[in-house]
Amino acid sequence: MKQVQKPKKPLIFYYLIAFIVLILLNFLLVPSLSNRNIHEVDYGTFLDMVEAKQVSTVELDGDTIYFTDKEEKPNYYETTTFDDPGLVDRLDEAGCKFGRVAQQAMNPILSILLSWVLPVVIFWGLGQLLTKQLMKKMGGGGAGNPFMSFGKSNAKVYVQSTTGITFHDVAGEDEAKELLTEIVDFLHTPQKYQEIGAVCPKGALLVGPPGTGKTLLAKAVAGEAHVPFFSISGSEFVEMFVGMGASKVRDLFKQANEKAPCIVFIDEIDTIGKKRDGQGFSGNDEREQTLNQLLTEMDGFDASKGVVILAATNRPDSLDPALLRPGRFDRRIPVELPDLKGREEILKVHARKVKLSDNVDFNAIARAASGASGAELANMINEAALRAVRENRKFVTQADLEESIETVIAGYQKKNQVLSSKERLIVSYHEIGHALVAALQTNSAPVTKITIIPRTSGALGYTMQVEEEERNLMSQEELTNKIATLTGGRCAEKLIFNSITTGASNDIEQATKLARAMITRFGMSEKFGMVALETQVNPYLGGDSSLSCSPETASQIDEMVVEAVKAGYDKAMQLLKDHQSKLHELAKYLYEKETITGDEFMQILYRKEIPEDIVNAE
Ligand code: ADP
Ligand code: MG
Ligand code: ZN
Repeated sequence: MKQVQKPKKPLIFYYLIAFIVLILLNFLLVPSLSNRNIHEVDYGTFLDMVEAKQVSTVELDGDTIYFTDKEEKPNYYETTTFDDPGLVDRLDEAGCKFGRVAQQAMNPILSILLSWVLPVVIFWGLGQLLTKQLMKKMGGGGAGNPFMSFGKSNAKVYVQSTTGITFHDVAGEDEAKELLTEIVDFLHTPQKYQEIGAVCPKGALLVGPPGTGKTLLAKAVAGEAHVPFFSISGSEFVEMFVGMGASKVRDLFKQANEKAPCIVFIDEIDTIGKKRDGQGFSGNDEREQTLNQLLTEMDGFDASKGVVILAATNRPDSLDPALLRPGRFDRRIPVELPDLKGREEILKVHARKVKLSDNVDFNAIARAASGASGAELANMINEAALRAVRENRKFVTQADLEESIETVIAGYQKKNQVLSSKERLIVSYHEIGHALVAALQTNSAPVTKITIIPRTSGALGYTMQVEEEERNLMSQEELTNKIATLTGGRCAEKLIFNSITTGASNDIEQATKLARAMITRFGMSEKFGMVALETQVNPYLGGDSSLSCSPETASQIDEMVVEAVKAGYDKAMQLLKDHQSKLHELAKYLYEKETITGDEFMQILYRKEIPEDIVNAE
């Protein structure tokens, strides 16, 4: 998993070197040449020294005379003449060398070197360094000639289980594992397949919602297949210069061909594999070129050589159809959200890394975490471990895990948020309203916990319902019951306080969404029957849907949604009115205790006389 990488020195490092060199030059060279510590003497002294034959060289510069004495390390002197016509004769007589101005005594060649050549050299050197740095940054491996690595793919090559991840680390997702195992097997024993005439798929596309383990699966393949494994992310093809992405694709496949048999993995392929749009003038030429190159390369190589291409995406709908046709990514491997068993297994895989108390019930946790992805489950285990540390315990307990589910669903407890007692009372009635309506209807998930401790998500309280077993289908009745349950909070507020609050906004949103989906997608309205009025754009990301009907129909749908939610509200209101005394009793209890379990709730609900109408309610 490690890549050999030279430590990069920051740019500032080179600037610093250049700066220091300049300073040194300034200190060492320049002073020794110009500031030679010149003694100033008067003309008489000079003449005396000439006569005494102490003077060695003399230079004249206008009125000024520079001269040196005959010491081993000569001293420099300066004096001013008064237009002395006999000076030359005197100097001759004394046997002095003399001449007119050698400006300062600096060697002219050195001076030219210093003032002209040196700066040029320094700037050239600096330029070189800068270019090298830039090249490195722009993607070449950097080693060798920086210009050569331009446009090379920077795929990481993993060889033979260097990731340390195997199928053992991926829980659930058995179908995906099976399909991938086949590919691994083909790379190991191709003759088994060739004998019977089977051709291995060239490419396989892992599709599924975020956090379900697509990248993890690919890494596991790298760990299992004892062949080189190239891994690159789609976004790494996107480059500053046009044409660079395409050249990276070319390079990647060239490398792969040399190393065959091997596996190439392109993560988040939707970055480069987006549908090309019809208009040729659209801006993103670069991306299109990259995609075209990828298509060409995928056609170009021979699957029997043993190059398999894996890719992962959570937006299969946005991929270019050309990528998906047989001969390219002809195998689609769904990596869906884990089911109950899968969730339990994933929890166990991640729990291997933490210390647990003995009595942890993974099944209960997995049931409560319905709809969670593998990544969320991994996160829950970690949150639980963090909570255990916070509370100075050595083991993770069931309570830690339960709390961490709530943390992942609803955010952290907001301990310091102060609600007025009136507000707390309203929230108590609101939550009991939900819980009562849920409990009084058949076919709705049992209430497991009710709390009025505020959460960082903004919820002032919530009611947790956990299905007893995994649900794959929802009946119309269950859906209508759910809408009624969602309106239950608001109903209780209205019934008891005869005023309504903002607390129901999330309930309203969910109820509306459900009612709309029942009509437009599930075909559960008498009026429209089984007609698809809405299509989901992307089932994996948020599940946005787009309307596909006439404006008239759309307004009819709106009316029907209003009716459906209203019907739920009326039903909930009736249930609460019939059990108003229980509503008071439970709300008071919750108000006192802040958090109550499903068992406590049920006990109070069915305590004392059990009126006939509760048991047969609904
Ligand atoms: P994606 O599908 O978005 O590529 P990842 O493979 O990056 O998701 O998963 C993120 C993390 O979630 C993984 O590193 C792993 O810890 C955890 N995870 C997801 N799915 C599973 C799984 N099936 N088994 C074990 N761990 C999983
Ligand atoms: Mg991923
Ligand atoms: Zn509510």
